[in-house]
Amino acid sequence: MQKQTITIDKTEKKMTVKEGTDLDSIAYFNEKFVLLRDAQINIMTHAFQYGTGVFEGIRGYWNEEEKQMYIFRMKEHYVRLKNSCKLIRLELTKSVDELCNITIELMQKNKPTCDMYIRPNVYKAGINVGPSLLNKNGSNPTGFSLCTMPMGEYLDLEKGLHVSVSSWTRVEDNAIPPRGKIQGSYVNTALAKTDAILSGFDDTIVLSSCGHVSEGSAMNIFMVRDGKLITTPVHSNILEGVTRTTIIELAKKEFDLETEVRQIDRSELYVCDEVFFCGTGAQVSPATMIDHRPVGNGKTGPISKKLQELYFNVVRGRNHCYKEWCMPVFKN
Ligand code: PMP
Repeated sequence: MQKQTITIDKTEKKMTVKEGTDLDSIAYFNEKFVLLRDAQINIMTHAFQYGTGVFEGIRGYWNEEEKQMYIFRMKEHYVRLKNSCKLIRLELTKSVDELCNITIELMQKNKPTCDMYIRPNVYKAGINVGPSLLNKNGSNPTGFSLCTMPMGEYLDLEKGLHVSVSSWTRVEDNAIPPRGKIQGSYVNTALAKTDAILSGFDDTIVLSSCGHVSEGSAMNIFMVRDGKLITTPVHSNILEGVTRTTIIELAKKEFDLETEVRQIDRSELYVCDEVFFCGTGAQVSPATMIDHRPVGNGKTGPISKKLQELYFNVVRGRNHCYKEWCMPVFKN
């Protein structure tokens, strides 16, 4: 297990996050709380063979002053999970409220005191060969699992990322719909991200097959041009990000900055003033070089910086205007 130090606020206070999966943590699997080491699936499981599952990535932020864990926009993540289920005929009977309650109970059992990542999976649990999604006579039922793990920063938020434009194009809506967080489609993400890292970049931007910007490997993208905040539309084959919606709302409410949602050309990225990524894992991560070209003056820009600072206060439950987005785990 790797140790990572992450900054939790603007004072010198540091929090140590021991990252990695703890097999002795508690998970939720087959309708029960069990040790993660006992949450096993059969090698013939449909989702293991065909990638026929959907998932979410949710963050819990530890607030040291309040000794409280806040889960950020959990409801919105579970609404998206249920929508992803519809795309591939998964029969998840649990409501959004039930999913939230199970998540809170699981977090209470694991008693974390650092930033956490929460990973629900809904998957085709049939033990048979054949890619059909149908559940004829109960032959391909739906499974649900949930586990949690400590997670610090997924990307370097301080230095500014150097990213490429990937030669892999984004999956299309009529191939594997990217608006769903579908397990199998993450092979596309994995190819793009891995090749970028092997070529010395921190991450990558993927284009739609028609050549316009889609999003980052596992994050949405924003650009600033002439003081305007711009992001790609859902028909550019993006995941409809919870953080993207959050940024659009925060920019409007806090800085009176309207977001223009429109197609972005690759070459616009080379001439704009600022670029940043956003996502549950990526949080708000500025890119300062794209394809070896500096973005703006090659430093994190002022709009990216102020949105990043605001975001970190909001997610940790320190901004009272947005406390309803932060679900407390412990009854202090
Ligand atoms: N796009 C992709 C492909 C992703 O995997 C993610 C991470 N979930 C995002 C965008 C950002 O979405 P969110 O803000 O909801 O985490």
